[in-house]
Amino acid sequence: MNVSLVWFRDDLRVADHPALTAAAGDGQAVALYVLDEVSAGIRPLGGAAHWWLHHALVDLRQELDALGIPLLLRRGAGLDMVTAVATELGAGSIRWNRRYGGPERTVDAEVKLWAQEHGLHAESHQANLLHEPWKVTTGAGGPYRVFTPFWRTVSAHDFRAPLDAPDPGHGFAGELPHGDGLQDWGLLPHTPDWAQGLRESWTPTAAAGHERLEGFLAERVADYSEARDRPAINGTSGLSPYLRWGQLSPFQIWAALGPRRRELAGSNGPGVFATELGWREFCWHQLFHNPELATTNLRTQFNQFPWRDPANDPDAAAQLQAWKQGRTGIPLVDAGLRELWHSGAMHNRVRMVVASFLIKNLRLDWRLGEAWFWDTLVDADAASNPANWQWVAGSGADASPYFRIFNPVTQAKKFDAEGRYTTHWIPELLTGAYPEPIVDLQETRREALDAYASIKD
Ligand code: FAD
Repeated sequence: MNVSLVWFRDDLRVADHPALTAAAGDGQAVALYVLDEVSAGIRPLGGAAHWWLHHALVDLRQELDALGIPLLLRRGAGLDMVTAVATELGAGSIRWNRRYGGPERTVDAEVKLWAQEHGLHAESHQANLLHEPWKVTTGAGGPYRVFTPFWRTVSAHDFRAPLDAPDPGHGFAGELPHGDGLQDWGLLPHTPDWAQGLRESWTPTAAAGHERLEGFLAERVADYSEARDRPAINGTSGLSPYLRWGQLSPFQIWAALGPRRRELAGSNGPGVFATELGWREFCWHQLFHNPELATTNLRTQFNQFPWRDPANDPDAAAQLQAWKQGRTGIPLVDAGLRELWHSGAMHNRVRMVVASFLIKNLRLDWRLGEAWFWDTLVDADAASNPANWQWVAGSGADASPYFRIFNPVTQAKKFDAEGRYTTHWIPELLTGAYPEPIVDLQETRREALDAYASIKD
């Protein structure tokens, strides 16, 4: 009987998991998750991501148990861990769903090569993106840099139907190599335990993701195109962490959305929602073609931008700290950053506003904000996070132009007219305890435009 090792990564689910389904078909499956924060170039996860990962692995183990498939945990370099476990098991094949970051692809290629040299079958499967980034090219044969034609091309395809979980009875029942204990990884915070807000805000299981999807499609998608911009209401899907960790696949969401698109033919909610899934695809398209997306301006003219440097400028350092803590004296900005600290999430409209404020009014490098989000978001995503920060900065692909500077006061009037969102997150807002703005919005706007003019020239 062929023993097949299934290497789980950002796909912590058992349904619509082509690698798991194929492994069950091979004979006997063993699941492996490697916490790899050491291979060259792989970005260590942030604190909120560690919290989600811990719970997602507990959940995955339960789902695999129900199928009789054991889950092994190992911490270390992906190549070393996967090859060691495959050898100890005497596996005949190794399977995984593809990932698209540069350093991750290098590791995967090394594992494939090792398998070939050692006579194992190694196979990767498409599961986490609706498109394969190297297959979708412009007429000239290169990657897309503009969203609209990209999504027109991608969404013209029929995507495959999602797969069911494999039937029970295909798990490996022999002796297993040793695995780490999840508790020993210390992914949950304890002193201090700052995760209370995350626990209040999220149920980090695949079942909760499916429930959220069903509730959103049944009750909210019809109004999505208007409701999605109002941070005080529950107008968006809240699916991003489930997608980030692969507890839901985009194929599952797409298939569930199809009937609603037909039923709600008069509403543009489902279509706009589909386009947002398209932005996720586009972010990954960008990362695949620009593995340095989190560190390097796509528009190189921004390499000359005169950012203020918190390492050498105490005012800039204090302002960065005030931004992180939601104490800038600008209500919409502070509400967003407090929402982030409490819940590990922030409404998309507010993400744009707080990013614009950091980059433009404080003239701090977008990478500083990106790093803060990376540490604090439960949906911190290697592609969506840097791509969106570069979008706001104007340094990215199909980006909002730098000179489009969000005015957080006008944005609040427009999208939170009654102040429900700001007063919810800033209880002291209407009291004397709330600080004065740390900068003048008009003055810093002019300074930002001058700084931009200096690189334009
Ligand atoms: P919905 O409005 O319900 O959208 C459905 C899904 O579409 C989302 O779950 C998400 O997967 C995708 N999506 C929506 N908007 C975008 C977008 N602009 N870019 C890429 N995908 C999108 N999203 C992340 O998943 N991870 C991140 O690390 C991340 N960082 C961001 C940083 C900044 C500065 C900004 C402006 C946006 C960022 N986003 C990120 C995109 C967006 O804010 C979130 O995906 C969205 O707020 C998640 O809420 P939702 O699931 O309710 O979204």
